[in-house]
Amino acid sequence: MKRWDCDMCNTDIEVADDYEAEICCSGYMCGCYGKPVNPVLCDKCEEQLFGKSIN
Ligand SMILES: [Zn+2]
Ligand SMILES: [Zn+2]
Repeated sequence: MKRWDCDMCNTDIEVADDYEAEICCSGYMCGCYGKPVNPVLCDKCEEQLFGKSIN
């Protein structure tokens, strides 16, 4: 595992060693807004995004 920042709130989290953020483009004139196409989120943001499906 290696340290990373949550793509939503920049909290320190851990991701798999082989994780690489894939950027589509700078976000100019594109719906990706320059964000990674495979964002990693902390538990909090994941909960917010997907609802509290996990206890
Ligand atoms: Zn793009
Ligand atoms: Zn977060």
